[in-house]
Amino acid sequence: MTAPKVTLFGGGPVGSLLASLLAERGCNVDLYERRPDMRQQAVGAGRSINLAVSVRGLDALARIGLDGAVLDCTVPMRGRCVHDLRGQCELQRYGRSDGQVIHSMSRGGLNKILLDRAEATGRVRVHFGTRLESYDFDRGTARVAVEASRETREIQAPVAIGTDGSASALRTSMQRAGLLQQMAPLDFGYKELTLPTTPVGTFAFDANALHIWPRGRYMLIALPNPDCTFTCTLFLPHQSDGRTPSFADLQDDAAVADFLRGQFGDVPPYMPDIVQKFARAPIGHMATLRCEPWSNGATLLLGDAAHAIVPFFGQGMNAGFESCVGLVEQLDRNGVPTSALQWAETFAEFWPARKRETDAIADLALENFVEMRDKVADPTHLLQRAAELAVQARLGERYWTRYQLVSFSRVPYSEALRIGRVQSRLLTDACANAQQLAGVDLDALTAAMSAEVIPLLAAISI
Ligand SMILES: Cc1cc2nc3c(=O)[nH]c(=O)nc-3n(C[C@H](O)[C@H](O)[C@H](O)COP(=O)(O)OP(=O)(O)OC[C@H]3O[C@@H](n4cnc5c(N)ncnc54)[C@H](O)[C@@H]3O)c2cc1C
Repeated sequence: MTAPKVTLFGGGPVGSLLASLLAERGCNVDLYERRPDMRQQAVGAGRSINLAVSVRGLDALARIGLDGAVLDCTVPMRGRCVHDLRGQCELQRYGRSDGQVIHSMSRGGLNKILLDRAEATGRVRVHFGTRLESYDFDRGTARVAVEASRETREIQAPVAIGTDGSASALRTSMQRAGLLQQMAPLDFGYKELTLPTTPVGTFAFDANALHIWPRGRYMLIALPNPDCTFTCTLFLPHQSDGRTPSFADLQDDAAVADFLRGQFGDVPPYMPDIVQKFARAPIGHMATLRCEPWSNGATLLLGDAAHAIVPFFGQGMNAGFESCVGLVEQLDRNGVPTSALQWAETFAEFWPARKRETDAIADLALENFVEMRDKVADPTHLLQRAAELAVQARLGERYWTRYQLVSFSRVPYSEALRIGRVQSRLLTDACANAQQLAGVDLDALTAAMSAEVIPLLAAISI
């Protein structure tokens, strides 16, 4: 019997992981990637310079034996380090202990490891510099543009998966065939600025934390890199509302210098050319994508192509990896399809349940944006957080915070969203009339969490 053949469009993190997962199940994979080979030529990493890998991503990597190799290239982050206007910072731990961490990793570095692994299977052929232009669902063919020859040609691709990111060309072709999509752009953009090492080659700030400068409607964050630099990301509204600074307001160097020195004063001493870096950095855009159906016959969308989200829970790629795992788990249960018709049935069965989960992480990511930029320094939020940690200390291993469910477990995102809303309601009620922890009735709060939250947590296997 000939091996099933699958065509993937897009060799980013999700496409290159999926290629290996399919190859390991006996599929021959042709992977078409728009950019040149990033292992041979310097190409931009794409949507972000570095990103946080957590349990869901690591679980997917473990399935192709790469979790250890990837972890070797990461910097663990045990919590958020919140910087105030005076430059003082305080660590808010993510997990129960310093053992529960998320991992900062170069996005390009991860992509290269995944491409190496895909090619090493011997079943994946990667066609770099080849861009999908459109897909013909009636004929099962794709039109691709080949950079080197400046030609377009038609390829046979009766079973095809679009892992070509948030501006997916396969999704555009599906829209012409009836796919419905809602792309909700965020009014905020971002600029990435690299914070160099100190003159003696060390990290400018605590290496094992994600740093945040929350300033109400905007914020700066910084993730550590193994070379002792940080990648800083400044999130600002695109347009001014009259009260909050925006990218539109920051047009000249003097305004930029005043703003950055005034709001993030402990950063410029380590980045003397911060104004020039700001001027050179392009503004990135963010959006939440919800679309359906993800499949049309024997074609499927996966990763950002199907479910791009805003980056504030550090889950976009982790969710994309989990989507790949979900698909191949279905192949493991039902067998690898041997005809386009069977692939069509597999895809149609796969995506609706997965979409419920990616819609949930989309909501969680939007909620976390408000938490990160607005609440992490807010006294009411800090009191609720302190109360929750006190309850967790009493209830022990049985209690998980929403953040821990998303980042340190593989429970469905929809459960994390549901349980998180109950936790939030109980914490809001318990802290409503208190100024400090001593004023919170921790016995009553623990009883309420035991009655309402512990049964929900017990019902899902963590
Ligand atoms: C500022 C920022 C911070 C982030 N931080 C995190 C984080 O901490 N943790 C996390 O999990 N996620 C994070 N994300 C999200 C993460 O970057 C994405 O979810 C992830 O890159 C999606 O992977 P993907 O392979 O689906 O798509 P992409 O990474 O967009 O890759 C798509 C690939 O397809 C190729 N391509 C595009 N069009 C075509 C075409 N027509 N034909 C052929 N090839 C094509 C592209 O060149 C690219 O290689 C962040 C995103 C941003 C913007």
